[in-house]
Amino acid sequence: MMTGIGRLGLAIGLLMATSANAELVALTGATVVDIDGKAPVKNAVVLIDGEKIQAIGPAGATPVPAGAKIIPLDGKWLIPGLMNMHVHLALNLPGASRVYNEGRDSIALRMLDNAQKSLRSGVTTIRLTGAQDGADFTVKKMIDSGVFDGPRIHTAGSSIVATGGHGSTEVNGAAEFAHAVREQIKRGATWIKLGISGGISDTHGEIAASPFTDDELKTAIEVAHRNGVKVTGHNGSPLSADTAIDAGIDGFEHGYFLTPPVLTRMKQKGVWLVPTIVVSQAGAKEFYRKIGSPDWYLARVDSVGKAHWQTLQNAIRIGTPIALGSDQYPWEPNEGTTATIREAELYVDAGMTPLQSLRSATIDSARMLGVDNQVGALRPGYFADIVAVDADPRADIRALRTISFVMKGGKAIVMPAVGS
Ligand SMILES: [Zn+2]
Repeated sequence: MMTGIGRLGLAIGLLMATSANAELVALTGATVVDIDGKAPVKNAVVLIDGEKIQAIGPAGATPVPAGAKIIPLDGKWLIPGLMNMHVHLALNLPGASRVYNEGRDSIALRMLDNAQKSLRSGVTTIRLTGAQDGADFTVKKMIDSGVFDGPRIHTAGSSIVATGGHGSTEVNGAAEFAHAVREQIKRGATWIKLGISGGISDTHGEIAASPFTDDELKTAIEVAHRNGVKVTGHNGSPLSADTAIDAGIDGFEHGYFLTPPVLTRMKQKGVWLVPTIVVSQAGAKEFYRKIGSPDWYLARVDSVGKAHWQTLQNAIRIGTPIALGSDQYPWEPNEGTTATIREAELYVDAGMTPLQSLRSATIDSARMLGVDNQVGALRPGYFADIVAVDADPRADIRALRTISFVMKGGKAIVMPAVGS
């Protein structure tokens, strides 16, 4: 006689068997790019069970199980979903389109809208490097729970600075920094962002200034690390860089005026650079014009742009670890493509191979986040975060401009147009 628990077990077993078959998806006919530089898998079958990749192999050796839903992607090239490591989903820059006295509800709605557009543009994971009013935690929760589609979100919550610095939560002295870091982690931050030098949009102070005391910087980093949380610094200053590297910081954003000795120390210590090169180069001008940026802002962009480019070239030559980040909306139009893809193209212009650039937008970003066993590559057991393009991006990174299929966690978000 079957006990109550036995019957329940059987019922659950049957339910699981049915739903597993129903959820099986097979992508067929495409070439799977190997992010480690090995030969691609031609005419591949990618089997997806629920959220995860179950198998990848040539069609002849990888039968499609009966009942699986087939998505034909003949002639396409499959790469991991793109990752963008420097994102603000509710930018509010100086200019005509600035939103004044914006409330938390409006911020959250703008964030959600930009999150959805980002995912549709092929970006399946983002790191938020400074959000307002905790709206990032709400948006992340709603996406994670499946209520809304959006990229996987890692967030630093509110960026922390000394009074007058480039960030939103202003504190002073080691004790206040410790408190501010703990507060963000308590709210759900999985990164801490410190504004350790000036920024382009500041109305006062030098970008290369270093306004933190050593004590403030060391304490903020120590407290984050004691909580198992990594720290990145908005930083254009070689002086701030040296102190922060000594204190064990995990990464720098932008790096505008970083020197070769600093970039070499970063390589030695495994400190990441997230270049956000698009913000200071020609393509960003159309964006700044669109939002009506004032003249002083455009002049600052120009003066920083040359040094920023030099830093990127030096970092690539030296071998400083680089994760891709745009500081513009991941989907923002930029020179005929998106800010994310233009950022990847500029890395190639500055000295990377196309494969290195593709890695910075995928597995290297995943390594920086510490999730390279889940995303950033197409492998069995990884989340099925998959993008299809029309050509081999290892031959020409501009192939990223042809994204026609986007899947996140096994759910098709964008399907190729019929006949394309
Ligand atoms: Zn930023």
